[in-house]
Amino acid sequence: MQFMVSRFWNASSAYGQLDGLEEVVELAKTAIRRLTGSAQDDDVVFTSGATESNAWAISEGARRVGTCAGGWVLTSKVEHPSIIDSIERLQEQGMEVRWVPVDRDGNFDLDKLERLLDSNLCFASLMLAHNETGVIQPLSKAIALIRRHSSHCLIHSDATQAIGKIPIACSEKLKELDLISFSGHKFHGPKGIGGLIIRNSVRLEPLIRGGGQQNDLRSGTLNIPAIAGVSKAAEISLQNIRNGECAEVQLVRDYFEERLLAYFPHSFTLGCRALRLPNTSFFGIPGADADDIVQVLAAEGVALSKGSSCSSQSLTPSYTALLMGYSYEEASSLIRFSSSPLTTIGEVDVLLSKLKYHLDH
Ligand code: PLP
Repeated sequence: MQFMVSRFWNASSAYGQLDGLEEVVELAKTAIRRLTGSAQDDDVVFTSGATESNAWAISEGARRVGTCAGGWVLTSKVEHPSIIDSIERLQEQGMEVRWVPVDRDGNFDLDKLERLLDSNLCFASLMLAHNETGVIQPLSKAIALIRRHSSHCLIHSDATQAIGKIPIACSEKLKELDLISFSGHKFHGPKGIGGLIIRNSVRLEPLIRGGGQQNDLRSGTLNIPAIAGVSKAAEISLQNIRNGECAEVQLVRDYFEERLLAYFPHSFTLGCRALRLPNTSFFGIPGADADDIVQVLAAEGVALSKGSSCSSQSLTPSYTALLMGYSYEEASSLIRFSSSPLTTIGEVDVLLSKLKYHLDH
């Protein structure tokens, strides 16, 4: 509130500087570095969210491919639309793109990935955790393979779904990522704020030019209330993760899946054999109309979504489910349950009984 009411200055103005707003931004960067295990000399540049961060990473990747004869791009078919749509556009414009497939559990197929690789690979963008299934990809192994074939490749990860939900700081291999996208609203920060983490040695061209804010890397007046919000959210998330919150969140999700099967023995959950985020379940109930369920339960105060909420306006079924080998009908029936540390077993019981009542009547 203070940054909207009493300290509402422009951070770049003399007044804002005098009021210590630059320090507020520095503290927010430190909170993000700590949450993601980044080093002090890794840069954190704030953007309007992960969509912009992804667009920026891809634009830099495309620039590098353009400077390298025979250069090409690696990504997967299950990335978030903000990656897929941008990379498909590059492909339409003539850039070579190779797509990593997934297996039935939704994991990158590492054997097939390895067969795609050669030393002309200039840019790779692979997600850490999936936005619909919650599947945590074998990203460290993928990075090791990529580095073995192309040491100069710029490697980006859209880690938006993982950051703030699981400890991502622990893996040495993830430290080899050059660019990492995140979004504040995935860990209870405000909407409309996110960023790109840039490893110390990596030099990027800006995507958005203008007033030269953020060391000329991302122009535009800094959104101080949102930056202060994401800073606090990062600090709290880190504390919660350290206090073992993931296991507690997973208990609630596992309870949901166990009870779902008891109520609806033919229900199925995507990626349930894979390593997943602790809070996500992407499930189907054969014969049930997912659109109808989401609408009816929304009116009763239960917030479920069809696929990822950012694409729930879309009438096409989950492309990820189709790529995992599910039928069109099965993919159309999917609903995403995602919980937070605030979700209780009691709420899960209410959800399930409403679901049962609705499907029985
Ligand atoms: N990437 C992933 C994996 C996401 O889940 C989302 C949003 O849900 C985004 C990118 C887009 O994030 P934002 O809404 O902050 O632009």
